[in-house]
Amino acid sequence: MKALVLEQQDGQTLASVKGVTSEQLPEGNVTVDINWSSINYKDALAITGKGKIIRNFPMVPGIDFAGTVHSSDDPRFSPGQNVILTGWGVGETHWGGLAERARVNADWLVPMPEGLDQRKAMIIGTAGLTAMLCVMALEEGGVLPESGEVLVTGASGGVGSTAVALLHKLGYQVSAVSGRLHNAEYLLSLGAKYVLERESFSEAAKPLEKQRWAGAVDVAGGDLLAKVIAQMNYNGTVAACGLAGGYQLPTTVMPFILRNVRLQGVDSVMISTERRIEAWKRLAELLPENFYQLATSEITLKDVPATAENLLSGKVTGRVLVSIA
Ligand code: NDP
Repeated sequence: MKALVLEQQDGQTLASVKGVTSEQLPEGNVTVDINWSSINYKDALAITGKGKIIRNFPMVPGIDFAGTVHSSDDPRFSPGQNVILTGWGVGETHWGGLAERARVNADWLVPMPEGLDQRKAMIIGTAGLTAMLCVMALEEGGVLPESGEVLVTGASGGVGSTAVALLHKLGYQVSAVSGRLHNAEYLLSLGAKYVLERESFSEAAKPLEKQRWAGAVDVAGGDLLAKVIAQMNYNGTVAACGLAGGYQLPTTVMPFILRNVRLQGVDSVMISTERRIEAWKRLAELLPENFYQLATSEITLKDVPATAENLLSGKVTGRVLVSIA
């Protein structure tokens, strides 16, 4: 079977499509024939070697996949069943989804929810699941569509695009922040009401600024997140899931102690299976058909290394689906 294999040579990460045997697959109690995977930000960091994601080589990257159960020693899964996997360190510490087959732990698999197929599930992928978890965090923070405008940063990326589509579908008025204004039409068709230039957030944040947002989904971190926090309405919630703009957070306590602002971290890797199943169910129900057309480009395994470079240099819009079969 074919797999994208990462190896290290003189400190450099090398990625190539190779033949591997089923015997080489890591331990696990379910074997899955993979049909679709995708490229997320973390995959791009791993494949290019620009982030210290992988410590043991050789490694098959791919933090998510959708496929058909080939064989299972676990009673919850049976051959022929459609499944999704995201997170749990797959594609980081355990061979991942950019391969024709994976062997994994049954606890990591989610049965395909009604209304989705394998292709759609990977258009959503880890990025889309994270967007849903961010939206759920806003809801749990009490942010309702009538609370006021909500903001999404990094809006043309995978998490951002899905968050825009989900929030719009739920009736929120969405402002999308993007560094690429040529994507404005794309963001408006996903459901953004306004598209704001990232540049307009570049002045250093004051401890408190004019209140603008009832809720925010942030993929950027860094100065942009600090600016957004300073602009939150009284009782606002920010769901922070990413570091596309940096991992630091130069903020103050003022928005928290004077405006009751809530900063909710969002992780998709280790969240419980129960919450995953709930999030996937809601994604299947909420995402409109046009999302799958608008937000998708499709590649094959051999295109993955070049696409990973493009993603990190901000040239990719929406989600990248990898056709494996
Ligand atoms: P993408 O590359 O698809 O999207 C990232 C977007 O961020 C870009 O498209 C760009 O959008 C914007 N961006 C790029 N550079 C900067 C910058 N310097 N400052 C502000 N914005 C910038 O990645 P994903 O959507 O897959 O992931 C987004 C982030 O979320 C990543 O940091 C990733 O690690 C994180 N993530 C976290 C997860 C979790 O479990 N917590 C799971 C999945 C992702 P535009 O051009 O429109 O501005």
